[in-house]
Amino acid sequence: MKFIVNHSLYAAASPRLALRAGSLSALALLAACATQGPAPVSGPVKLTVLHTNDHHGRFWKNSDGEYGLAARKTLIDSVRSEVKAAGGHTLLLDGGDVNTGVPESDTQDAEPDFKGMKLLGYDAMALGNHEFDKPLPVLAKQMAWAGFPMLSANIYKDGQRLFKPYEMFERGGLKIAVLGLTTDDTAKMVDPANVAGVEFRKPAREAAALMPELKKQAHVVIAATHMGHYTNGARGVNAEGDVEMARQVKGLDLIVGGHSQNPVCMLDQLNRNDAYQPGGACKPDQQNGTWIVQAHEWGKYVGRADFEYAGGELKLVKYTLIPVNLKKTVKAADGKDQKVFATSEIAEDAATLAFLQPFQDKGRAALDVVVGESDGKLEGDRAVVRAQPTNLGVFIASVMQQRAKADVGIMNSGGIRDSLPAGKLTYKDVLKVQPFGNMLAYVDLSGKELMDYLNAAAKMSAGSGAFAQFSGVQLVIEAGAVKTATIKGAAIDPGKTYRLALNNFQANGGDGYPKLSNHPGYVNTGFVDADVMREYLSKNGIKAANFAPGEAVVRR
Ligand SMILES: [Zn+2]
Repeated sequence: MKFIVNHSLYAAASPRLALRAGSLSALALLAACATQGPAPVSGPVKLTVLHTNDHHGRFWKNSDGEYGLAARKTLIDSVRSEVKAAGGHTLLLDGGDVNTGVPESDTQDAEPDFKGMKLLGYDAMALGNHEFDKPLPVLAKQMAWAGFPMLSANIYKDGQRLFKPYEMFERGGLKIAVLGLTTDDTAKMVDPANVAGVEFRKPAREAAALMPELKKQAHVVIAATHMGHYTNGARGVNAEGDVEMARQVKGLDLIVGGHSQNPVCMLDQLNRNDAYQPGGACKPDQQNGTWIVQAHEWGKYVGRADFEYAGGELKLVKYTLIPVNLKKTVKAADGKDQKVFATSEIAEDAATLAFLQPFQDKGRAALDVVVGESDGKLEGDRAVVRAQPTNLGVFIASVMQQRAKADVGIMNSGGIRDSLPAGKLTYKDVLKVQPFGNMLAYVDLSGKELMDYLNAAAKMSAGSGAFAQFSGVQLVIEAGAVKTATIKGAAIDPGKTYRLALNNFQANGGDGYPKLSNHPGYVNTGFVDADVMREYLSKNGIKAANFAPGEAVVRR
């Protein structure tokens, strides 16, 4: 079985490509006898690298008409023809995490996303951690849908690479190696059952080890990575990202990144412009001679890096982050807020839209399918859930707690928008309760920090959306202050580490909560809240009595 899984992943990457890679390495061997590196290119070559990352199921535009593959297609086609007319060449890359984030995509295993990306002519992508959200056979199917290579050099099974590590391209005589790398945090971010026996090695070490082989064949070496951009290497609890790799590994010309989901637009080498606005000038990062780019998330932008290769040097001539129908809010004449395009509107490509429409319709229909059953009603009425612990509040907090393997779960009641009725439940029922698409996050805190946070949560007054629903912790709250807090019967130890599960809205300081998203122990899992609930529901169903709030939280 193991062998079959291995084999099918390689085969799905395209047997044709595997053959070509085989003959290339034979050529590289011959070349290595004569010279170090490929034959020099005559004359300058213009190369435009287009890039996206962290697509996360956004094949369709959002309700404001932002992003979506159909508009992305129009944009990419227009850049391609402009570059071609000027005698240049293009390469279209993605930094991974195509999967997970939108029910219409998730219920179809991201078929519209991968097939749509093939239609857009992607040349290669890095595998992201979310490519392992489903079992490996699903990934094999996705690789077949994509057709283009899905690369990762640092994922092993039984001592062998599980995926194609790199792909060679030729543009105007220029030989380009594209290497794929995946964060070694993947192992702890996904269901262990999906990656049993799979090893995520340190990406920087793999890149360094492959470099001589790549340099023999290529004039230009690009890494498509899913490792994250941490400003000046300040990565907290995260595994090493692009900055740390660029500082260690010599010879990378460009890193097309993903995972941290930022526009990588720098003020200088040590400071990222985290207030970047669509349409603004964007200066990519450069570390140790390597350019590092990332185009935020969801296809909100297409990054465009215009290079010129001459005399053995690759020079970045111009860099732009092009917004894909992103909108900004302005005051209309009547004083009301109005959303308008941040830059000029990009028309959706009709053929791409026609291709995607049936998937969108099918995805909508899938929301009506029963996903599980509850033996009692879970209370989410606004007036109730914002004033007292309810079984739905405890249920949501404990589902988050379990999924994140946390000690405590906290849910802001303002994020609970409806009750769950007794009986058979559809995905739509789940989405009515959690419609915001917030993501499950967790943070590892000291006992002291956890106590401070519980105190902040205890102060959130009844009647407000901030009112906290708890799981995993027994609290006695007196006059808005935590009098006692116990976990599994034991008092919280200020010196021990505890994991708190919550949603990213609350972690970002939403509803007036202390901001935790900049804590070094913070992880946004990328799992959408409603999907986490749906998964629990379909696996376990709901026994309402298990979530009765009882005396877990006592207020005096
Ligand atoms: Zn990721």
